Amino acid sequence: MTKSNQKTKTAKGKFLSLKSIGQTDCKWTNGFWADKLSICQASMIPYMGDLLCGDVGHALHNFKIAAGLRKGSHQGMFWHDGDFYKWMEAAILVYAQNKDSKLLKQLDGYIEIIGLAQEEDGYIQTQIQLRDTVDRYENRKYHEMYNTGHLLISACAHFNITGKRNFLNIAIKQADLLYTIFFPETKQFGRFGFNQTQIMGLVELYRATHNHKYLDLAKCFIMRRGKYEVKHHPTTEGYPIGDMVQERTPLSQSSEAVGHAVLALYYYTGAADVVAETGDKSFHKALNKIWNNMTYKKMYLTGAVGQTHYGASINRDKIEEGFIDNYMLPNLTAYNETCANICNALFNFRMLGLNGTSTHADVMERVLYNSGLSGIGLDGKDYFYTNPLRMIHDARDYNDHENATETPERMPYLDCFCCPPNLVRTVAKVSHWAYSLSQNGITVNLYGENKLKTNLLDGSSFQLKQKTLYPWDGRIDMTILQCRKSAIEISLRIPDWAKGTTIKINGESIEQKIKPSSFTILKRVWGKGDVVSIDMPMDIKLVEGNPRIEEVRNQVAVQRGPIVYCIESPDLPEKTSILDVYISESPNLKATYRADFLGGLTTIDGNIFIRKNKVKKMYDSINKPKWESVAARFIPYYAWSNRGLAEMTVFMPVIWESHKV
Ligand SMILES: [Zn+2]
Repeated sequence: MTKSNQKTKTAKGKFLSLKSIGQTDCKWTNGFWADKLSICQASMIPYMGDLLCGDVGHALHNFKIAAGLRKGSHQGMFWHDGDFYKWMEAAILVYAQNKDSKLLKQLDGYIEIIGLAQEEDGYIQTQIQLRDTVDRYENRKYHEMYNTGHLLISACAHFNITGKRNFLNIAIKQADLLYTIFFPETKQFGRFGFNQTQIMGLVELYRATHNHKYLDLAKCFIMRRGKYEVKHHPTTEGYPIGDMVQERTPLSQSSEAVGHAVLALYYYTGAADVVAETGDKSFHKALNKIWNNMTYKKMYLTGAVGQTHYGASINRDKIEEGFIDNYMLPNLTAYNETCANICNALFNFRMLGLNGTSTHADVMERVLYNSGLSGIGLDGKDYFYTNPLRMIHDARDYNDHENATETPERMPYLDCFCCPPNLVRTVAKVSHWAYSLSQNGITVNLYGENKLKTNLLDGSSFQLKQKTLYPWDGRIDMTILQCRKSAIEISLRIPDWAKGTTIKINGESIEQKIKPSSFTILKRVWGKGDVVSIDMPMDIKLVEGNPRIEEVRNQVAVQRGPIVYCIESPDLPEKTSILDVYISESPNLKATYRADFLGGLTTIDGNIFIRKNKVKKMYDSINKPKWESVAARFIPYYAWSNRGLAEMTVFMPVIWESHKV
């Protein structure tokens, strides 16, 4: 590790209750996440790299054209540079795990091209550079902030992992230009922040360089939101305004998650980073309120967010791909963009650091195993843009970002390519989220077979390993490999669903009470070879929603551990519509691990009911249902749509057997 890396590590998150471990401190050794990471290395990164660097994606071509190395015009969305930086970040994170020098060399080649494309004063935005008709910072819809943010984040990851400055220097030049234009604030650019990943990026750059001006600029981008009258301005034309872009209410006065879900969550996540470095109490308080509103009134069972494709906010601002009213959670028309779900996990990782409460890690886990991974096919090559909880034939497909006409199957390339690299970089960084450093020890945020080798906050070395088949089995054995001589705390997250969990140390049950949705803190002098055994009951549960969620009234979903299940047409009798599927209140379900099915996973098998005389008209008078009981199989929601075009549902109407009182 270089000297600059060490400085970076200690500078992060002055006001965090829980601090991050180093990027490479935790390594998956076996099981669920080790499998996903190897698919990431072997398939997601190279396959996506080929797409983005070739004619299909055209992302690298854009940089080459701007660098004068190729002839042609800009292709792709305005945010295409940013999506390329996200893929680069994913590749850097994979390099951190496998130290593949070929990958690093490949990235160095791309960094050189980006450097050549960058203008003398630091400006690097191919979507503007390659268009004669648009000026720099003319209109926020051109996504200059988004591209800058991902440049900064990716370059800082590259610097932190490799110690090399080639990418970082490009980021610094771009950020310095941003500072001269946007600080101090002018009325012309007062509302310019848009899809604001630049806030996160500037905080990362502050952490990497220790230059306070980047943190000042990050905070300034938050302070200006909600300060100006919401009406169209030359810099805002062509895209919805107001709540859609979180500019109607200053953050410190906000208590509700509003607007485009991805824009909102990048903004809130950036604000959480600013709180981590400044301790700003008004932002922190507001973020807690927003989190509560989103988690308990707007989030799906799968951890997905952003209920609708088109709608309105409570202030009647037009909303696209975002948050609408509390408890309004449709299944079939749910938008739930993969990016929004991923951003929910990003935001919760920040909030976990700020608050030190395990509920945030519960949400991270809910996203990762469900609405995060549902965005990608099991072979790591095809993607969903949206993640509804039900799909039927002949319904409108929301996955097509532009036209909404294609069939609802995952696609290898999406014209709007924001989600795929976002998902891949997340798969590459889950190990970084698995543990945090607390004042006097560590917290275990996520479970999975891994080895941790880190330094506690006092600088002492600490090592442990986990052995487990989680999430398919609730038993986790954690062996201490190295620890300082005095007592430390190992805080174990007990998930919200894990009622009845038991914990033993070296075979002896612990005496303290174990509560779901909290950390169980084990404080003692640990010796090499000490074993902590956690046993979480993996009961199959039927889950129902709050009665205020109209769309799931009298319906239930199947959940086992952190995994939400669905039923899909390949597992039903031929020609059965998913809309005819009912489940009884006590369906006698059985879990079976199947190593050779859908990449290896646990299915849930049992009987369901098919209603034979369904309503055919728009409305009809009630008729007595005719039932057929059939054997059926539930699979994890994340694994749906890997067996061709299919119907699918998470929630099913329930047949109550206990109705006679
Ligand atoms: Zn996206």
